[in-house]
Amino acid sequence: MTTAVEFRAVSRHFGPASAPVKAVDGVDLSIAEGAFFAMLGPSGSGKTTCLRLISGFESPTAGEICIFGENVSATPPHLRNVNTVFQDYALFPHMNVRDNVAYGLMVKGMGRAQRYAKADEMLALVHLDAYGSRKPGQLSGGQRQRVALARALVNEPRVLLLDEPLGALDLKLREAMQDELRALQQRLGITFVFVTHDQHEALSMADSLAVFNNGKIAQIGTPEDVYAKPRTRFVADFVGSSNVLPPALTRSLGGPEKWASLRPESLRIDPEGRLQGTVTALRYLGAAHRVNLKVGEADIGAILPAGQPLPEPGSQIRLGFDATALHIMDEA
Ligand code: ADP
Ligand code: MG
Repeated sequence: MTTAVEFRAVSRHFGPASAPVKAVDGVDLSIAEGAFFAMLGPSGSGKTTCLRLISGFESPTAGEICIFGENVSATPPHLRNVNTVFQDYALFPHMNVRDNVAYGLMVKGMGRAQRYAKADEMLALVHLDAYGSRKPGQLSGGQRQRVALARALVNEPRVLLLDEPLGALDLKLREAMQDELRALQQRLGITFVFVTHDQHEALSMADSLAVFNNGKIAQIGTPEDVYAKPRTRFVADFVGSSNVLPPALTRSLGGPEKWASLRPESLRIDPEGRLQGTVTALRYLGAAHRVNLKVGEADIGAILPAGQPLPEPGSQIRLGFDATALHIMDEA
């Protein structure tokens, strides 16, 4: 399998060497050609800087980056065959939609008829055929997002970088665009590197993902792996809202004396269950209820399907789980 993007011990530090801001700090990663790869992490964890390193708008202070096997340290952005859909879309407000999409081709010197034909093809791809003559200001947020996508795709990049592209959209539209983006990526077969701070988005869209924390990759793997087998407390907590159990509690549940994670949806009310505590909160979530339980010093959350009898706040209950649900973590 061909590797589209590879980072070897890549760092990007800012500021004085005496007190550097380590935006990206010793990152190794390998993104397969044709993958939908997500970079997930909280604000400030280094995701945008990684995209800028791939696109060439930023240079590493250490390490090397290869794109399709070629070290790109001396390759300027416009020769990398990589395009970016920016977080704020960065459309030209004074140009109409068609000219916005055709812009990159004009810069490359493509003739007018040809670049408009290509722009129209891209606008059809993102279902904006009828909007070519509008200005960006006359479009909805979702439509502007599609223009930004068409404008990047018209250059036929081998790698498309997307920096929180759906962050400005409301929930319904965001979900629709998630499906559409995923379908488009599969149809075109282009490698997508998709940055988001939304774990649901990353888990539902990506073939594989990297979880960033403080400029480092905390974990990399398939969504199923990262969700079910978080390596650290940070990952367990950030990717979904897992229960993180301190070593003593893990031990009292029959595990080793180590930090462990236990997903809320793996718990059920069970009179014989090993987790015993006091119900501190009940919250209605629509399709389910969330029950919080105080077990010693720990706060344990359980997701219980709607339609079951619910415990009273303040009552003592027991929760059970399958032994395989208790995931022991390597590190604190
Ligand atoms: P994310 O996209 O995950 O929110 P960024 O990659 O934008 O994170 O930033 C990572 C860290 O690097 C942040 O602390 C940010 O303030 C810092 N940073 C990014 N760019 C610069 C810069 N040009 N100069 C100084 N610090 C920067
Ligand atoms: Mg960012």
